[in-house]
Amino acid sequence: MFEDALERQANARLALAMDLRNAIVEQEFALHYQPVFTSAGTRMAGVEALVRWRNPQRGLVGPQDFIPLAEETGAIVPLGQWILRQACRDAAAWPLHIKVAVNLSPVQFRTGNLVECIEAALNSSGLPANRLELEITETVLLKNNAHNLQLLHQLRELGVAIVLDDFGTGYSSMSYLLSFPFDKIKIDRKFVSELTQRTDCAAIVNAICGLARSLNMATTAEGVETHEQLVLLRAAGCTFAQGYLLGRPCTKSQLLIEAADGAAIRLGNRM
Ligand code: C2E
Ligand code: MG
Ligand code: MG
Repeated sequence: MFEDALERQANARLALAMDLRNAIVEQEFALHYQPVFTSAGTRMAGVEALVRWRNPQRGLVGPQDFIPLAEETGAIVPLGQWILRQACRDAAAWPLHIKVAVNLSPVQFRTGNLVECIEAALNSSGLPANRLELEITETVLLKNNAHNLQLLHQLRELGVAIVLDDFGTGYSSMSYLLSFPFDKIKIDRKFVSELTQRTDCAAIVNAICGLARSLNMATTAEGVETHEQLVLLRAAGCTFAQGYLLGRPCTKSQLLIEAADGAAIRLGNRM
């Protein structure tokens, strides 16, 4: 019975891996964009690109359910290239003050041509490098440290911003701040979600914001769902806020409607 279960699991993974491979050719991926706002004011400062997979048989599959397998099989490389090209192309059509953030997988650092891919995505779209932000997690620094650090410096030389995602959840977050001069730190949702109930979470968020300020790095709070959280984040001096309170990930046409609709003004009235 145990062997049967294992075999079923292995077959399911194989099927998922094969579907993933076809998904790029079949154009089953789409990018959704979640707005990021300045936490002090109400201005939309940018968006984060979040990949979605719509498969005719499987329906909508979330990134948590396919990115790890795409990383294992290497499918993340062509997928990551597509995401970069698409995000840059979309953002090039948006108002100049709107930046676009793209998540990078550690596997993309191993392919050998990450810098060239990003340069090509910028050149072909015409997006100025200072409107692109690259989000990495500390696993990029964990594996193959020296090589990846060199790549991060090369990317920075292109003029793009480097952002440390999910900050505070890893093993030795503080030491990563010494290894590279990040432009921005994203405070993990875990700390934001309990901000109003737990004084220790509030203390950590305050400390991260203070630390980032003295290191000349901006901060984005992830997963802001309540107005109370936003008030505390503002008081802590957090630079940007992102979360369901301010806007859920949506398609680019929904996003543009929101922007043209004056989302910032409506938000301002609410606060
Ligand atoms: P992430 O980069 O930390 O992205 C933020 C995730 O939090 C997104 O989930 C977003 O929908 C969700 N989120 C945003 N605001 C809220 C909120 O207020 N409350 C709650 N509960 N959740 C919120 P999503 O889209 O499912 O993405 C999950 C993760 O998958 C991302 O975490 C990122 O690590 C990865 N991912 C997504 N898109 C890409 C991509 O294009 N490339 C790579 N390499 N990874 C991606
Ligand atoms: Mg991210
Ligand atoms: Mg994150």
